Amino acid sequence: MATILSAVAWPYANGPRHIGHVSGFGVPSDVFSRYLRMAGYDVLMVSGTDEHGTPILVQAEREGVSPRELADRYNRVIVEDLQGLGLSYDLFTRTTTRNHHAVAQELFKTVHRNGYLVPKTTMGAISPSTGRTLPDRYIEGICPICGYDGARGDQCDNCGNQLDAIDLRNPRSRINGETPVFVETEHFFLDLPALADALGSWLQTRTGWRPNVLKFALNLLDDVKPRAMTRDIDWGIPVPLPGWDDNPNKRLYVWFDAVIGYLSASIEWARRSGDPDAWRKWWCDPEAQSYYFMGKDNITFHAQIWPAELLAYNASPGEYGVLNLPTEVVSSEFLTMEGRKFSSSRSVVIYVRDVLERYGPDALRYFISVAGPETQDTDFTWAEFVRRNNDELVSTWGNLVNRTASMIAKNFGAIPQASNLTAADHEVLAVSKKAFDAVGDHLRHQRLKLAIGEAMRNAAEANQYLSEQAPWKEPDQERKATILHVAAQLVSDSNRLLAPFLPHSAQRVHEALGGTGQFLPQPEIVDAADLDGGPSYPIITGDYSAQPRWASESVVPGTPIKPPTPIFAKLAPEVVDEELARLG
Ligand SMILES: [Zn+2]
Repeated sequence: MATILSAVAWPYANGPRHIGHVSGFGVPSDVFSRYLRMAGYDVLMVSGTDEHGTPILVQAEREGVSPRELADRYNRVIVEDLQGLGLSYDLFTRTTTRNHHAVAQELFKTVHRNGYLVPKTTMGAISPSTGRTLPDRYIEGICPICGYDGARGDQCDNCGNQLDAIDLRNPRSRINGETPVFVETEHFFLDLPALADALGSWLQTRTGWRPNVLKFALNLLDDVKPRAMTRDIDWGIPVPLPGWDDNPNKRLYVWFDAVIGYLSASIEWARRSGDPDAWRKWWCDPEAQSYYFMGKDNITFHAQIWPAELLAYNASPGEYGVLNLPTEVVSSEFLTMEGRKFSSSRSVVIYVRDVLERYGPDALRYFISVAGPETQDTDFTWAEFVRRNNDELVSTWGNLVNRTASMIAKNFGAIPQASNLTAADHEVLAVSKKAFDAVGDHLRHQRLKLAIGEAMRNAAEANQYLSEQAPWKEPDQERKATILHVAAQLVSDSNRLLAPFLPHSAQRVHEALGGTGQFLPQPEIVDAADLDGGPSYPIITGDYSAQPRWASESVVPGTPIKPPTPIFAKLAPEVVDEELARLG
């Protein structure tokens, strides 16, 4: 079975994550990874919080805390939210570990030695009142290309062009409104033009990507420029070169190090597992595959910057050897909220924690899987959330489990024996058994909507079977037993088909069918010591070795069944108004 790295985008630790974030990277990657494990693949799923860069620095200043304190706070919040959502990371870590710093520096040094990081003198902005560097994105002014007043120093949101802050007309600081001063500063630039041919050749071999993602990635090659990989900032990873490493105001660009997190987290996972080289199976074996999950605002970094770093490293590799480039960049589109862009400042937002507290993880996982922004921009509305929950999750799936288990409990007290299957029995069982191939094929190709649609159709067909066979008015006890045996088998199959999407309720369905013990392994939070003597921090990890198989498994007659309690909660229609009232 193939070896697969599930590389999940790193949430930025400057605040709690909202459902727009987890609809892009979180739930899709977890459904994919859980399916692969059930199907017998060798999966390593890694991520962590991204904690460097200007926004954390600026927010820490605003709150009067150190950047480390701010990152610590939101790292913990994010860890708790993602674990609460059931995201089954082998390791969810962070970028402020000593391990990550060392791995990022090894990549920088090797890419520099290979000649792909070239020094250049540029003009950088400083704030005249504080003397501190003013990063591009904190400068605003008139776009020199389209004349839009409100362009940022790094790009114009009106015409979409990449800009240099010094070219803005009437530049001003977004922090305090003052006019920045430009001074000479030296930085290292990743030589993307020198890597463009190799990037292009690699992209040409990528088949099966979502068309939007591949098109976007190929378009990036039309206009490649060297890109600064160091910054004038005092928060981040020191630049590992003589004359630079002791300069407190020069750091690696946050995106240079954040994408290295996939590698550093794999290495950290291996070190924690007791076999420090175990990560190589996912990174150095050319047969191993890797899937990177993210929202579309991150495609540039995963389809261009990260592969460029890897190609530059592989040109004459350092201690890690030749490293695999991504098999696929799996990007979703944007989720909006009631027709508007998510905005924490304008309260157009719903945080993961609030959804977990009010509705539980599986209601949200279901919605994202069935109605998320998989291949097109999608609007989240509370009316649709409630409708999907009530009409699909509760009415189709919850109802099937409930009525099957109730009738078995009431009539037999245990899963009954089947005798003399009819053509209808054979047919519905065969369809259910075959669904594993169809749903599995969709999941293997990250088509969550088609996969969950197929799985839910299987549950709907089981409901249809029960309605047609009407065991509640069947006078013949033997026939009634057979129908309910078949129904129990259909519930068991559907539960496996839905388990990657609904891992929490899968446990309860397993128990409703008389199952004992843990059905699916779940992630847990562990307070872990830094491996290299830094401060300890919470990680998400888990032992996912004991998996139910991705196949129909025969139910066992005689298994005791108790009257069930409902698996899913129906939401009152008032939920819609309550939630809309909470929005700004
Ligand atoms: Zn413009």
